[in-house]
Amino acid sequence: MYEYRAPRRDIRFVLHEVLEVEKVLAAGGREDVNRELIDSILDEGARFAENVLSPLNWQGDWHGGPRLENGRVSTPPGFREAYRQFCTDGWAGMAADPAIGGQGLPDVAYIAVGEMLCASAMAWRMCSGLSEGAVLALSRHGSAELQARFLGRMVTGEWTGTMCLTEPHSGTDLGIMRTKAEPQADGSFRITGTKIYISWGEHDMADNIVHLVLAKLPDAPSGTRGISLFLVPKLLDGRPNGVSCASLEHKLGIHGSPTCVMNFEGAQGWLVGQPNGGLACMFTMMNHARLGVGLQGLGLSERALQASIAFAYERLQGRAPRGALERDKMADPIIVHPDVRRMILTQKAMTEGQRLLCFYAYLLIDVEQHAPDEGTRKRAAELVALLVPIVKSFLTDWAVENTALAVQVHGGAGYVRDTGVEQYYRDAKIACIYEGTNGIQALDLLGRKVLGTAGQSVKTMIDEIAALLKSDLPADFAPWAQRLQGLLAQWAELTKTVAERSAKDPEELAAAATDYLNFCGYVLVAWCWLRMARVAKRALEAGSGERAFYEGKLVAARFYFERVLPRADAHAAGARAGAAGIPMLQREQLEA
Ligand SMILES: Cc1cc2nc3c(=O)[nH]c(=O)nc-3n(C[C@H](O)[C@H](O)[C@H](O)COP(=O)(O)OP(=O)(O)OC[C@H]3O[C@@H](n4cnc5c(N)ncnc54)[C@H](O)[C@@H]3O)c2cc1C
Repeated sequence: MYEYRAPRRDIRFVLHEVLEVEKVLAAGGREDVNRELIDSILDEGARFAENVLSPLNWQGDWHGGPRLENGRVSTPPGFREAYRQFCTDGWAGMAADPAIGGQGLPDVAYIAVGEMLCASAMAWRMCSGLSEGAVLALSRHGSAELQARFLGRMVTGEWTGTMCLTEPHSGTDLGIMRTKAEPQADGSFRITGTKIYISWGEHDMADNIVHLVLAKLPDAPSGTRGISLFLVPKLLDGRPNGVSCASLEHKLGIHGSPTCVMNFEGAQGWLVGQPNGGLACMFTMMNHARLGVGLQGLGLSERALQASIAFAYERLQGRAPRGALERDKMADPIIVHPDVRRMILTQKAMTEGQRLLCFYAYLLIDVEQHAPDEGTRKRAAELVALLVPIVKSFLTDWAVENTALAVQVHGGAGYVRDTGVEQYYRDAKIACIYEGTNGIQALDLLGRKVLGTAGQSVKTMIDEIAALLKSDLPADFAPWAQRLQGLLAQWAELTKTVAERSAKDPEELAAAATDYLNFCGYVLVAWCWLRMARVAKRALEAGSGERAFYEGKLVAARFYFERVLPRADAHAAGARAGAAGIPMLQREQLEA
């Protein structure tokens, strides 16, 4: 069983050497957040993730998960104690606004710790992650009265939060939900309905649970424009409030996380935001929530990479193709085999490249909130909007691939339980499904973010990437720079083609979306690798004492351009192929 080791060196590389967050944050008036502060938070976060959470990961999985008895859900051993420590150490309100009792740490700094929490125990982390989303929604849209009554204890972590959207017949299609909200004379509402798959809907880690529930008012218009958001606590002044957990799901992964069927039986709740404005409220926290799921994917990819590396240098099988390397041993370690190195370098190239992409997106959120001039804030917001569906989808699909590669590197030892690697693979899949499936992310990207801005957001991103290509790049990076230049031209052309077709037929948009999103993902990670390779090359030329670290970056950059980036061409071809090739089919045509 592997324990997690927080990738502090790589996180510092991304934050300080590539993104230069101290400088960017200072430009937005956050001079208080300097490198020392960020590093000390990283160190503390790493200690908590490695020592407290990592050992809980497999325990939560093997223990069989939370148990429901007499309406109460008990969490796996150690979960409560770890949560208590998380709150006592002040992590719960770390990124929340000081105006509501938080510590106001910029997103980009807290998120590095967020990656560690997801990697060390994703199922456990979901609880506090959901609460952070609920705090954000309430602080932006809750009335002063609701905030005064609930926010304080949510920020400290004493009370946790949930998001209750899904119903048995209403998942992606929220417009057809049935949960009802009936107005009461005192201004509150009675909420009645059943929500399913509610993560951390009931548990024993906190004194109270504040549910954010989507429901319909009696006179609501049909569809998504008729959905309102309500705050519904599990306990009201310590007494039950008509909210109960009917059952727990048995599932593929994240066994430590209770996935609950929740019944609301005339539960008292209060409107958050405007009547029928529930989805708009949800959109406020959507960027955070979706990036947060991307971060789960990143954490699992990192953990799987660590396991693959450890195993490949220890497991002895066969001899190197050019002759034995370790003659004193019965066989060479499997890292001598190019195919094993292919698998590990694929994991490294994707995980580290995606880390920069993800942290860049979070940094843009800070810029969007704090930059002094409006133009910079608007540009950051435009890029965040474009990047969110890509980070959510591309990082989670790749987490499945990366964790599968880790199982493959381990052979049979990966498939059986002993090493813990199969758990990463099982845990990874859910991130492609919740918080809007990856198919829906692709539609959001192409429909709302790209075509909805008449291609402007893509143009802004392309300009940003082109700026790097115009900068002072080392001469031997020329083939990579030319490749990226070509892909930028292809991106602009592909966007135009898809836009023209989609204007005539919406089926064209839907048919191109997933390939389009993946194409964007590969191009963006190529940009990330070029940025990282430039920093690594300069460090080596300056005589850095960390040669292995920077050389590893150059190897991974080369691997990415030569062996991973060609997938972008396949996705461009898929996006260009059009809807005709995937027609609506009769069932008999598929079943043969
Ligand atoms: C472990 C777990 C935890 C969860 N936690 C929560 C939670 O805390 N709160 C909560 O509210 N929900 C939660 N969910 C629910 C989750 O968000 C939904 O499962 C998800 O939104 C998909 O809905 P669905 O399962 O009904 O799938 P469906 O909507 O039935 O989709 C099935 C397939 O059809 C595709 N599809 C559907 N509609 C379209 C379309 N218009 N265009 C293209 N493709 C489409 C989907 O992409 C998917 O591949 C959780 C689910 C699980 C399994």
